[in-house]
Amino acid sequence: MHEADFTLSAGPTISSSRVQQALGSPIPFDYDPAFLAHFADTQRLTGELFRTTKDVVLMQGEAVLGLEATARAVVRPGMRCLNLVSGVYAAWFGDWLRSYGAEVSELKVPYDEAIDPGAVAAELERLGEVELVALVHSETPSGIENPLAEIAPLAKKAGALMYADVVSALGGTAVEIDEWGVDIAVAGCQKCLGGPPGISLCVVSEEAWAAIDANPSAPRGTFVSLLDWRETWLASGGAKFPYTPSVSDVNGVHAAISECLEHGLEEVIARHAAAARACRAGAEAMGLELWPRSHDYAANCVTAIRCPEGVGVAETLAHIRERYGVMLSGGYGELAEKVFRIGHMGTGSRSLYPLVSVSALAQGLADLGVEVDVGAAAAATLESLAASGAAVTA
Ligand SMILES: *Cc1c(COP(=O)(O)O)cnc(C)c1O
Repeated sequence: MHEADFTLSAGPTISSSRVQQALGSPIPFDYDPAFLAHFADTQRLTGELFRTTKDVVLMQGEAVLGLEATARAVVRPGMRCLNLVSGVYAAWFGDWLRSYGAEVSELKVPYDEAIDPGAVAAELERLGEVELVALVHSETPSGIENPLAEIAPLAKKAGALMYADVVSALGGTAVEIDEWGVDIAVAGCQKCLGGPPGISLCVVSEEAWAAIDANPSAPRGTFVSLLDWRETWLASGGAKFPYTPSVSDVNGVHAAISECLEHGLEEVIARHAAAARACRAGAEAMGLELWPRSHDYAANCVTAIRCPEGVGVAETLAHIRERYGVMLSGGYGELAEKVFRIGHMGTGSRSLYPLVSVSALAQGLADLGVEVDVGAAAAATLESLAASGAAVTA
């Protein structure tokens, strides 16, 4: 069996030929001066993408490693944390916080809504002392974007550290680490950047390092140790690794980030927004209902669509994959059999990819006997893309 002709899933996403070439380039000795310089340059470019001068740590594993490593480093037993839950990843993060012994309060909204900054301000006020506020910027499982820009300053004002999972936000929507005052952020490369699923891009502020220093349970001497990276790579000024980095993945990440920055971050974000608008227009014209209650907080990375009556998510996706060679995603966790998800990230946000995904979903559902307007879906998607003009191929 070969891979799908079109990978328009919730991630990993389609990689460009430049990224593929980088992944296929020679594998050097990690202490080859050329690789040391390349690693440092990857770190520098990552900081540029995050719009930050804070420390960047490239953890050598898929984004879950970065999330776990940063959380375990900063969270000490008894730490008062406010976890903002609007989806599956945030709920999972809460389980981690509790397992590290934190005293966790949660502000929860239904998974088809976004977190309201006003409610966060009120909750911070009510709780009094809070040391860390955690938010998933872009909830990939439900296609919802939370207002990190408004929430981070509230956390700072309350004297708390702001922890943000920006795994599927970076490169697809604005992420302004310094301007907003985010202390810890973790991104992945296999979402909006169209890179390999192998490295966690992490940001750590001075305040976060201070909290880590004050945490006796911050891991040391393990693969998940953020401190090991600070005490080797950062402390040596880029001369010493804690262990051999995933050199091929570093090459892929370097290529993916370079490509994004060369296209222009703002242009790339506008392209993701245009693809998301087009998919929403197509889904609604088809006669389906979006999962997010409002377009205002529908994410740029994926479009989540409610599964209509009469079919199952898994059977529909299998049919679309088999008949048309298009790989879309279903729901995840609690939303598994409730939603379809169209990914429009990285290369998949370009050109007419939204037409491919929307048409595949529409025709696939029609094949299975669901009453959908295939023609209207395609027309609305194209009309929306046309209205976005040059943004579509930026
Ligand atoms: C993709 C993603 C992760 C990482 O999870 P994987 O499924 O292992 O890739 C974490 N948080 C968010 C918001 C994500 O989109």
